[in-house]
Amino acid sequence: MEAEHRVQNLHRNGSCQIDRCSCGQYHVSIGRMTMHLTAVQFFSVAHAMQSIDWESQSTGDLNL
Ligand SMILES: [Zn+2]
Repeated sequence: MEAEHRVQNLHRNGSCQIDRCSCGQYHVSIGRMTMHLTAVQFFSVAHAMQSIDWESQSTGDLNL
């Protein structure tokens, strides 16, 4: 019997989608690619993102 995968959407925009799955994984979809991350991996990536100096990154043209 397969584990149930019910997803709860955490965030979605034109480029990516982040879902939390009932199996405990986080699904990060970018375009046609979906990464299935464990909670440890997901929070590790999230922490890495937060540690970036975003003010030094130019995002003015990206229209996010
Ligand atoms: Zn799942």
